Amino acid sequence: MSTDHRHGAGGGGAHGGHGHAAGAHDYALPELPEAVDIFDTTLRDGSQQEGLSLTVDDKLRVAEQLDHLGVTYIEGGWPGANPKDDEFFRRAPAELRLSTSTLVAFGSTRRAGVRAADDAVLEKLVSAGTPVVCLVAKSWDRHVTDALRTSLEEAVAMVGDSVAHLREHGKRVFLDAEHFFDGYRNNPDFALRVLGAAQEAGAEALVLCDTNGGNLPDDIGAAVAGVRERTDAQLGIHCHNDAGCAVANSLVAVQAGVTQVQGCINGYGERAGNADLSAAIPNLSLKLNIRTIPTDRLERLTPVAHHIAELVNIAPNPQQPYVGASVFAHKGGLHASAVARRRDLYEHAPPDLVGNGARVVVSEMAGRSTLAMKAAELGLDLDGEVAGRVLDELKRLEHEGYHFEVADGSLELLLRRAGGWEPAYFEVESYRVITDHGSSTGGLVDSAPADAASATTEATVKVHIGQTRTVATAEGNGPVNALDGALRQAIGPHFPALLGVHLTDYRVRVLDTGKGTGAVTRVLVDTTDGAKTWTTIGVSENIIEASWQALYDSIVFALLHSDAKT
Ligand SMILES: [Zn+2]
Repeated sequence: MSTDHRHGAGGGGAHGGHGHAAGAHDYALPELPEAVDIFDTTLRDGSQQEGLSLTVDDKLRVAEQLDHLGVTYIEGGWPGANPKDDEFFRRAPAELRLSTSTLVAFGSTRRAGVRAADDAVLEKLVSAGTPVVCLVAKSWDRHVTDALRTSLEEAVAMVGDSVAHLREHGKRVFLDAEHFFDGYRNNPDFALRVLGAAQEAGAEALVLCDTNGGNLPDDIGAAVAGVRERTDAQLGIHCHNDAGCAVANSLVAVQAGVTQVQGCINGYGERAGNADLSAAIPNLSLKLNIRTIPTDRLERLTPVAHHIAELVNIAPNPQQPYVGASVFAHKGGLHASAVARRRDLYEHAPPDLVGNGARVVVSEMAGRSTLAMKAAELGLDLDGEVAGRVLDELKRLEHEGYHFEVADGSLELLLRRAGGWEPAYFEVESYRVITDHGSSTGGLVDSAPADAASATTEATVKVHIGQTRTVATAEGNGPVNALDGALRQAIGPHFPALLGVHLTDYRVRVLDTGKGTGAVTRVLVDTTDGAKTWTTIGVSENIIEASWQALYDSIVFALLHSDAKT
């Protein structure tokens, strides 16, 4: 164990809980920092995960959640790498109101043989408009010679020049030293020169990356301690989970002197993922007593982790440490009654500290605060009896598989209905969907593949508007598309505002309710009127019925907010 570490800018002194009582030890315990910066890269590194695809709207919503949780930095993407990230950074200043977090743009150093001032990537980083830039550089010599095919001298110069250029443009710079631990093992001199060049040019933090994710805690701890002895810059850690050690490696790095921890909420990322911040944060805060996110927000961890899982449309893992639905649940019998008497004997941490109520549906907990906020926002009086009724209804629906935390549109309608409101725009008599199978079963949405034309779906909707009965039929490339078409045809002439309203996304998840009654399908529909976007939800054992519910809510919400008269 090494001692007497100096800590970087983000560290701020020795940790009080580990004071060295005179005579208690004949050796010194490592000093822990009082606080570490949490750096979330879900929007950049995390979105490399197979099957994870975020729209720009999704990205903005994920960022809002991360800010709500209170991470220090949010890495938004790589400006210039794709149109989506460009749009994100273009829209962020107007649409993203961050109250806690600082937005970071990611990019690479200048190319070999190009002046920093002439480099297109750096130009994009400057114009992305974020206060902080995270600059990735190769710190494993073989990546320089074999992949980049340039000299080690040029690689070091690329780092120094690029950091200096960004500093001249007023940016705070973090250096992401890619493949640092493998590089440090193979050629420590070069790996350290890369760090040195960055620090000399004004980099604020040097982030050591286990890019291949194969290192074990001892290797990480020893390497960080080695670097710690040679620099007083703030050090960061960025671990991938290929050996299943990303969180453990991050903790060991902090114990060896790191004060910035990078990772992703829910451990998203390519291959085995990044360090899971949903576990790293409570481990640091609750087990090591190091400040991470603001202390009073730790209870937001589970709701935020689940909300983000909904946004990226990946079912949360019930066994995920700290935030999984099963991890504080206890099976019946003797054990459960013992748990009821002495929780602390059976739980490694109090679940409510991370917002994970034992045996309570998580979204109900989140729903309570969302509910109060939402009601106030809508000017609804939810006191006493009405509030109790809404909560009961919410509880019942969430038990069935609804998740109102992510369906703001349906939540608002639910709250209004609880207050006695009923939408009177139109009345549905019935709807019907028929699909003719061709060689392909077709897609469910407008974005279905082109060959979906070989299956046609036809929907018929019968509605009453006032005394008028209308029957409308429309074709689509899937049931939602066809139902949407038919409903609009039926009511559109009465409500011209619907012309400017369209569906932007459609997500389906099959939920195993664990109740032995078979799976139910949950459908989320995103809708926009060009200015505002809302999400509505439907849940049913029948995917068509679930889709219809979400679609119906989406249209009613649109009419409610367009001042449509019946
Ligand atoms: Zn990474």
